[in-house]
Amino acid sequence: MIDRYAVVGNPVAHSKSPQIHALFAHENGQDIEYGRLLAPLAGFRQTVERFRAEGGRGLNVTLPFKEEAYRIATLHTERARAAAAVNTMRFDAEAIFGDNTDGAGLVRDIGDNLGFAIAGRRVLLLGAGGAARGVIAPLLAEQPAELTIANRSVERARVLERHFGTLFGARVRASAYDALSTSRFDLVVNATSASLAGTLPPLPEGVFAAGSLAYDMMYGAGRTPFLEYARVQGAHLTADGLGMLIEQAAESFLVWRGVRPRTTSVLASLRAG
Ligand code: NDP
Repeated sequence: MIDRYAVVGNPVAHSKSPQIHALFAHENGQDIEYGRLLAPLAGFRQTVERFRAEGGRGLNVTLPFKEEAYRIATLHTERARAAAAVNTMRFDAEAIFGDNTDGAGLVRDIGDNLGFAIAGRRVLLLGAGGAARGVIAPLLAEQPAELTIANRSVERARVLERHFGTLFGARVRASAYDALSTSRFDLVVNATSASLAGTLPPLPEGVFAAGSLAYDMMYGAGRTPFLEYARVQGAHLTADGLGMLIEQAAESFLVWRGVRPRTTSVLASLRAG
């Protein structure tokens, strides 16, 4: 019987994960099946249990179920615990293994694909939702000079400052958007959902340092308002989140199959549409 995997979410029809994992499987000679599962908003657990009972081996989890997946998993990796969210489940004989590969995907895309070293840089993270939370520990592990988290509701950023500051020390600080006007950053990561709505986070002018990278986790909609703004504001490099999506998928494939696929040709293939 072929090993079965799927991405589960609501909505899930737009997900590129089946296409990405089919390319990984083909290039690595792995015989797997990978589909999409639409879970009812109040029926995530039942959807997972049914898939597992039918012999499913693992799931990628997307919006809005990553926190619920964390609660269902019985064994967590360190990075899943730091994120309090799971995007990769593996069904072992006795346990449901829960991992979070989003942050590793972001860091690998920035470091390997874009050739931008995070160590020693001033990093600004926009947003304090699930995506932001998932990337903070992997970003800090790269040893930036500082990590500032800005959010519209600044109290949510302060919660993250308290949590990750305890783990990593004083390099983490929360900020309101308007308090950023006197600061400059080498890397600005947009982890808000503003781009989904075609809008721009309320970033003051002048935050992009010379040689900076502007990174939008959103992908697939052409140049986002954030990336347009960053370009006008003097960001040296701009990138959308497609590379992160592919790198987090490669990390999930490793969790399931023990092989880390190469990503260059898959990225080129998805960019070409
Ligand atoms: P959440 O709903 O958990 O959080 C949304 C965040 O965006 C909050 O911090 C919210 O601020 C902020 N926000 C929303 N609208 C605005 C706005 N107009 N201006 C400023 N801030 C705003 O979403 P997620 O964290 O799960 O997802 C965020 C984005 O990351 C999505 O676009 C998603 O597609 C992308 N993503 C990409 C991945 C990839 O692999 N490339 C992986 C995971 C996510 P407030 O708290 O004040 O409401």
